[in-house]
Amino acid sequence: MSKVKPIGPIPGGYACRDGELSIGGRTASELVAEHGSPLFVYDRGLLHSRIEALRAAMPSQLHIHYAMKANPFAPLLEQMVELVDGIDIASGGELTMALNAGAGARQISFAGPGKRDDELLAAIQAGVTINIESPNECDRVLAIAAREELQPHLAVRVNPDFDLKGSGMKMGGGAKQFGMDVDFVAATVQKILDAGADWRGFHIFAGSQALKAEAIIETQAQTIALAARLAEQIGQSPEHVNLGGGFGIPYFPGDEPVDIGLVGEALKKQLSALPKILANTQFAIELGRYLVGEAGVYLTRIIDRKTSQGETFLVTDGGLHHQLAASGNFGTVIRRNYPAAIATQYDKPSEEVVSIVGCLCTPLDLLSDHSEMPKAEVGDIVAIFCAGAYGATASPANFLGQGPAREILIG
Ligand SMILES: *Cc1c(COP(=O)(O)O)cnc(C)c1O
Repeated sequence: MSKVKPIGPIPGGYACRDGELSIGGRTASELVAEHGSPLFVYDRGLLHSRIEALRAAMPSQLHIHYAMKANPFAPLLEQMVELVDGIDIASGGELTMALNAGAGARQISFAGPGKRDDELLAAIQAGVTINIESPNECDRVLAIAAREELQPHLAVRVNPDFDLKGSGMKMGGGAKQFGMDVDFVAATVQKILDAGADWRGFHIFAGSQALKAEAIIETQAQTIALAARLAEQIGQSPEHVNLGGGFGIPYFPGDEPVDIGLVGEALKKQLSALPKILANTQFAIELGRYLVGEAGVYLTRIIDRKTSQGETFLVTDGGLHHQLAASGNFGTVIRRNYPAAIATQYDKPSEEVVSIVGCLCTPLDLLSDHSEMPKAEVGDIVAIFCAGAYGATASPANFLGQGPAREILIG
């Protein structure tokens, strides 16, 4: 058993029934028999319990937004629209999807560093909040709105002068394509006000995939202080401040979940002792993977079992074209194993070291590298966990002519 590489922690909420992984009460083989393989399964019950627990931990007045780029699957999005206070979008395509899912214009805010004129026009016409990311973009929006004789709803996205420590993906602190530097903010807001547009406030997003409560708490405190400083400069209170998000989920061996109890307690203190200029401001956080990531599982059937130079490979009918992140090719420096299991041998002890690969003709198509697993044969089903966010939507489904996997929301 040399060269064993550990797998990430299997998230809570999954059970064993008849010796198999069961998701929302259905076994993996039942789900695959009914819907085919490969298959993304999202569990509605897990979405509910996640958001309930988050709301219980956070200050009651805090709004929770869903950043839909994590998972835009229509039935899941419709469910999320019911569960959260806002939907954060990042393209015209997502605008259409959010509206189709039943989100109200007042619930939607539109960020993104490169919004085309047609996307801005659609957002203005729909009446959603646009997060302005540069002085140029501000000019473009105001010109389009003036031409259409519509009043746009505009927030300013600020590139914070700090970052989210320990975050997997930094989106603030230093030179960035997101938002505008602090120095440009006051003049841009003034322009918005002078044009008679509806200034909604600030959007300040410092990073993603942080697991340390202390880092999130520090960033939230810095964000509130920055919003207050900017509001003082402008001389007007923002109606709304989006504090960003960054709550991560455990993907890899040794990762521990965010202690949301600590984050919530600290934020309650912060919001109960706000600078005067923010006393009537509505605060929100925006989360993607934290809300949906652990509620999804990717199931893929083993279609070959082979050995090469003494090593065992389980070849599946899925792969990186559906689960790019699990293959380590979506923004990771060192490849590590996602949580994975043989879903149809879920109650069996580990017995051998295998590499689980996809069906694509590239060595990059590796779903689990030298993992200890129960003995699996052709026909068994592999489960890759943490597939609810940046799975189907963030993978090159058309690579090698494979096409997308089926997705279902159950429960
Ligand atoms: C991607 C993104 C999110 C969601 O990030 P997660 O890590 O999935 O929570 C939130 N806000 C903005 C602005 C984003 O670009």
